[in-house]
Amino acid sequence: MRTAKRIENLPPYLFVEISKKIAEKQKKGEDVISLAIGDPDIPTPPHVIERLCQEAHVPENQRYPESEGLPEFRHAIADWYKNRFGVALDPDTEVLPLIGAKDGVGHVALCFIDPGDIALVPDPAYPVYAIGTMFAGGSSYYLPLVEEHGYLPDLESIPSDIAQRAKMLWINYPNNPTAAVADLDFFERVVAFAKKHDIAVCHDGPYTEVTYDGYRPVSFMQVPGASDVGVEFHSLSKTYNMTGWRVGMVVGDARIIDALTRVKSNLDSGIPQAIQYAAIEALTGPQDCIAQHNAIYQRRRDLLFNTLSEIGLKATLPRASLYIWARIPEGHTSIGFATALLDEAGVVVTPGIGYGKCGEGYIRISLTVPDERLEEAVARLRSWHKQKTS
Ligand SMILES: *Cc1c(COP(=O)(O)O)cnc(C)c1O
Repeated sequence: MRTAKRIENLPPYLFVEISKKIAEKQKKGEDVISLAIGDPDIPTPPHVIERLCQEAHVPENQRYPESEGLPEFRHAIADWYKNRFGVALDPDTEVLPLIGAKDGVGHVALCFIDPGDIALVPDPAYPVYAIGTMFAGGSSYYLPLVEEHGYLPDLESIPSDIAQRAKMLWINYPNNPTAAVADLDFFERVVAFAKKHDIAVCHDGPYTEVTYDGYRPVSFMQVPGASDVGVEFHSLSKTYNMTGWRVGMVVGDARIIDALTRVKSNLDSGIPQAIQYAAIEALTGPQDCIAQHNAIYQRRRDLLFNTLSEIGLKATLPRASLYIWARIPEGHTSIGFATALLDEAGVVVTPGIGYGKCGEGYIRISLTVPDERLEEAVARLRSWHKQKTS
């Protein structure tokens, strides 16, 4: 059997070693707390599940869905964008439901990238931007996201031959893994850059509703001209604790929406209709659950953040996302540090290197474990640090 280069080119799964370690420890009966995964522990709101169950009984919903999604769902998405961001979208040409944002994020490179083409990809970043590019036969030119620059890419520093050749630009705010946020001024510069170099912009924005201290992120689509150069991926996963239901959307430039619809109609057969109705329920039903969830995450954020400073890890207090991005002490690699935390404290965090070279020197800590577990993790981190320094 001879597998394709795209399989050989896949990076080794970051967690292979750590997963093995976790399994070994659990086999020995040790208790390991994972702060490594960005998957909400809070349940999907009951009214959403109720609708899902009702719709599952309806015979029409047991048949193949349409690739472009239910018209009612596309309308609900357009209405949500109008209410939340003041952005007007044509539900028939500028909205496409997805099997989770990852579906679109992973496949959109097939709309732009031919073998040898370039995509501009942030580093550190959600790994799917670069992998989707590689699957399409292209290569990624990495844009370093550094703390001193607020984890925004420096578009000015991109060599002009690269900017001319590049066909896509990926951005993601509120950001995973750094928790950084962007304002309209940055998005305006992105639109100008994209227009100048004829580059399609893909903004990945699943964390716009997971926010703290009253912060309200903007949408890339709010910038005049954004819908002539790009799209925004969004998701119900993080907003409504619906990661397991696999439902999201992409909105914006009608040419990109059309191209992605054509790609996807050849790969999948849409989102199960009962799940689309559940998503409509989430987007159009009561929204107070969002503030309730954010209050829970904010408490956890504060607990963890205070502990980090006590144990010598430097971090910026996040205004959004489900993560704290913390700088580790000098003299450690992120893998070495994460391994030590696992071995010596029984706490799992994600090494920054897993998100790219520029992630070295950092770890990502997730807020998606129940309060008692987080309190236990914090107690372990404290006593681990005490032992280290005594
Ligand atoms: C969680 C996440 C996604 C995937 O969301 P789904 O809708 O569950 O596929 C996409 N991008 C980023 C940056 C994420 O953190």
